[in-house]
Amino acid sequence: MPPEIDAGAAVAGLSHPLALRRGVAYIRLMIRPILIHPDPRLKKVCDPVALITPEVRQLAADMLETMYDAPGIGLAAPQVGVTKRIIVMDCIKDGPPEPIVLVNPQILWSSEDVTTYEEGCLSIPEQYAEVKRPAEVQVRWTDLDGKTQERQFAGLWATCVQHEIDHLDGKLFIDYLGPLKRQMITRKMEKLKRERARAG
Ligand code: ZN
Repeated sequence: MPPEIDAGAAVAGLSHPLALRRGVAYIRLMIRPILIHPDPRLKKVCDPVALITPEVRQLAADMLETMYDAPGIGLAAPQVGVTKRIIVMDCIKDGPPEPIVLVNPQILWSSEDVTTYEEGCLSIPEQYAEVKRPAEVQVRWTDLDGKTQERQFAGLWATCVQHEIDHLDGKLFIDYLGPLKRQMITRKMEKLKRERARAG
């Protein structure tokens, strides 16, 4: 039985996952299956979200639940099979959770400084590789209240937000690797999918 959360808190923008479990009105959270590469839905350029509807809020809440359950620090809507421009993140390792939902995120500025992180992806389980990206980015997005937000991300947050926005354009972190490494990882994922299909 999936946990239930407070719809009011979800509407207010998911300020704290624990806060979502209080209150009287409930929506049901669903852990959605995460697509594994290769999958055509992971290669699509996603559509912008025109309006923050209850369906968008439900999807965002489900995505956060799915991300924490995995566990991961970021998730993009196409990874759960929805080709819409929505990402969720929480890059806090120690301390209280800081979930954020970014609808129609846009990178306004990237630093010339680059950093290298060993990246992974919930759609490419247990495969990691170093990827070089701008160290800081300025991002604009719409929140679940329909308000425009802007923030400069640095450190792990910067890497994560760029990785997730890439998903919305059908791009995976392995696309930054050489063709041999990429093919090797893709073959491993095909094998993993076959094994999972056999296991039912
Ligand atoms: Zn990913």
